[in-house]
Amino acid sequence: MKRNYEYLLSDLNLLKGVGTKTSNLLKRKKINTIFDLLWKLPKSYTDRSLSSKIKDLKIDEIQTITIIPLKYSFPRVRNLPNRVLCKDDTGEIDCVFFNSYEGYIKKILPIGKEVTISGKIKYFRNKYQLTNPKYISEDSSIIKQKHNSYSLTEGISEKVYNKIILQIINNLPQIEEWHSKDILKKFNNISWNDSIKKLHEPENIGKFKENFYQRLAYDEIFSTFLVNSEIRKKIKRIKKTKKIFDIKKQNEIISKLNFSLTNDQNKTLSEINKDLCSENKMFRLLQGDVGSGKTIVSLLSAFNTVNSGFQVAVMAPTEILARQHFLLAKKLFSQNIKIDLLSGKSSYKDKKIILNKISNKQIDIIFGTHALFQKKVEFKKLGLIIIDEQHKFGVNQRKKLSDKAGKDCDVLLMTATPIPRTLTMTIYGDMDLSIIREKPNIRKPVKTYSKLEDKIDDVIKFVKKEIKLGNQIFWVCPLIEESKKIDHSSAIKKSEYLNKLFPKQVFLLHGKTTTDEKEVILNKFLKNEFKILVSTTIIEVGIDFPNANVIIIENANKFGLSQLHQLRGRVGRGSKESSCILMFKSNLSDNAKKRINILKDSNDGFKISEEDMKLRGFGDILGFKQSGIKNFRLADPIHNHNLFILAEKEMKRIENYNEDISKFKPLIKLYDRADIINDIA
Ligand code: ADP
Ligand code: MG
Repeated sequence: MKRNYEYLLSDLNLLKGVGTKTSNLLKRKKINTIFDLLWKLPKSYTDRSLSSKIKDLKIDEIQTITIIPLKYSFPRVRNLPNRVLCKDDTGEIDCVFFNSYEGYIKKILPIGKEVTISGKIKYFRNKYQLTNPKYISEDSSIIKQKHNSYSLTEGISEKVYNKIILQIINNLPQIEEWHSKDILKKFNNISWNDSIKKLHEPENIGKFKENFYQRLAYDEIFSTFLVNSEIRKKIKRIKKTKKIFDIKKQNEIISKLNFSLTNDQNKTLSEINKDLCSENKMFRLLQGDVGSGKTIVSLLSAFNTVNSGFQVAVMAPTEILARQHFLLAKKLFSQNIKIDLLSGKSSYKDKKIILNKISNKQIDIIFGTHALFQKKVEFKKLGLIIIDEQHKFGVNQRKKLSDKAGKDCDVLLMTATPIPRTLTMTIYGDMDLSIIREKPNIRKPVKTYSKLEDKIDDVIKFVKKEIKLGNQIFWVCPLIEESKKIDHSSAIKKSEYLNKLFPKQVFLLHGKTTTDEKEVILNKFLKNEFKILVSTTIIEVGIDFPNANVIIIENANKFGLSQLHQLRGRVGRGSKESSCILMFKSNLSDNAKKRINILKDSNDGFKISEEDMKLRGFGDILGFKQSGIKNFRLADPIHNHNLFILAEKEMKRIENYNEDISKFKPLIKLYDRADIINDIA
C-alpha cells in the first residue's frame, strides 16, 4: 500500500496490536496519533548479539552465551530458587530461576542439548550465575537483534513498544522533501524518512549532533516559524482604515509629563504610530522588562487613536491594574477625552449605562479586565485594543483575539516577560515586535541579598526598620506544586508568626483567596492600610505599589531566575531605595550561587533570562509552561541555537521572495496544530 503523510496522523487504532486499551493508555500520555509515537524514543538498549564464552563473561552486563545444561536442582523449598548447572568448553554457569515451573525450565534447558541464552551475569560463590534467562533459543543465529528500552507508559510493556514502533518504522510513508536544496545540504542531504529511522536505531541514542537529529530538530523549529509567519502575513493582509491624527497633540501630553521618555519608549511609540497610520492591521507586541514604562507608551497610542476618531479598549489581568491605568489616563488626558472603567463590582445599572455609552461612542477609552473582551461589549467604532500583561495567552488565543477584533481594529499586546531572542520567534513570531530595553534612569536598582532561613531574626529586624520608615513589605512563601496543602499551611503559619510580631499589620493572599477578596486585600495594601502582604501566589504583575520597597522570597531556589526577577520587579517602582531578600533553607551549591549572582549583578531581564536558560534549560525559564507555549520534541533553543538562526534566515528569505509555501503543507500538518493551519490554507 502506498502511504502518504496523512497515515502518520491516523489514530493509534490503525496499528496492529493496538487495541482500545493500549491506545487509551497512550492517549492519556498525549500520544494521539502515529506521528506522536515517533517521538517516543528508546532510552537504552540491550544488545543480545554479544556472544561470549563462559570464561570471558563480564559481570553485571547482559550477555549471550551458548551452553549445554548438565544438571537440574529443584529444592522444593519456599524462597529457594530452582537451578540448572550448565557448561561450555571454557567453564560452568548456574542458571537461576525464581518463580518458574519445572516443566518450563526443562523445556527451555533440556539436559545435554546446546542452547543459547541471554541475561545479566553475576558472580556468586565462585561461580557465574545468570538469573531468569530471557531470550532462549536453540538456534543461535536468530538472536542477533537489539531490544530497545523505553521509559514505559504504565500498562504497556517494553515488548509491545518495540513491536509498535518497529511496525511504524517499517511502514513509514514516502515523504516528499519539503526543504530547499541549500537547506538540505546543511544536513548532508539526509531525508526525513532516513532521519526518523536513524533516530530509532539504538546505537544512535543521544547522538544530538548527527545530521539526522539536527535535521529533525530543524524541521520542528522551521514549521513553528512558518506557522507564525503565515499568521502574521495573514493579519497584515487585512486592510483597514488608516488612522489620521495630529502628532502635535501627542507631544503636548508628553511635554506635560514630569519625566522625559527614554529613547526606547520614543522608538516603540513611533513604531506603533506608524502601524496605526498604515492601511494594514496592526498586531504588535510591546515587550519590556518590569518597570520599563510600557503603560505610558500604550496610553499615548490610545490617545492618538481617539484623536483619529476611534474608540480604544484597554484590558488588564486584574481590576486593580485596570484601575491604575484608568487613573493614569485621567491624569494625563484632558476632559475632551471621555474615559471610563468597567468594573465587575459596578451595579447592573451602572454597567448598563457604560455599555450603552460605549455603543453610542460617548466613551472614547474604556478600561477593564480581560473579561471586557469576552463579554458582549458593542463598540461603535473600535480602533485599538490594548492588552496588558498577556503572557498567558498562547498563539491560538492571540489569533482568536485578532480575528474577533474586527477589520479596523489594531491590536497591541504588552508583556513584561523578557525572553531570549531564540525564543522570541518561537513564541511571539506571529506578531510584530517592539522592545523596550532601557529603563528610566531615575530608577535605582533593587538591592538583592541572600539569607539562610535560620537567620530570620536578622530579616525581621530589617523589616521592623523599614516599617518604621513607613515602608511596606511583600513576603512570598514558596509555591511547591506537589504539595499544595503544605504550601497552604506554611503560608498560614508564616502569616500567624508575622502577625504576632506585627499585630494587625499582616494580610495573607493564598490559592484559595477569591478574586474579590484578593482585590480587597490588594486595595488595602495599596492604600497602606497594613504593612506586610504574605502571599503564596505570585503577586499580580504590573500593579504599581509605590510604597512597597521590600520583597522577601522564601525558599527562593524554588523559582527560576526570570521569575525571581519578575517578583523583584514588584518593588522599586517608586523613588525609594528598595531591597529583595532571597531566603534559602540550606547553603547554596556552587551552581545555585552562580545563578543567584547573575540576579544580584544584573537588573536586565533579557540578560537574566538568557543566562538562566543557559543554566537551566529553556523549559523552566518562563515559569508558565502550561500556557500553550509550544513544547518542542527534539529542538532545544540552547543546544540548537544555530538551527534557530538558520530557520529565521530561511523564513525571512521565503517571506522576502514571497515564495509559495504549499510544499511545506505536510511539514506543517505533521508538526503543528491543525486548527491554525486549516485557517491559513
Ligand atoms: P511597566 O513597563 O512595568 O508596565 P510602567 O509603565 O508601569 O512599567 O512604569 C513604571 C513606573 O515608571 C511608573 O510609575 C511610570 O510613571 C514610571 N515611568 C515610566 N516612564 C518613565 C520615564 N521615562 N522616566 C521616569 N519614570 C518613568
Ligand atoms: Mg505594566
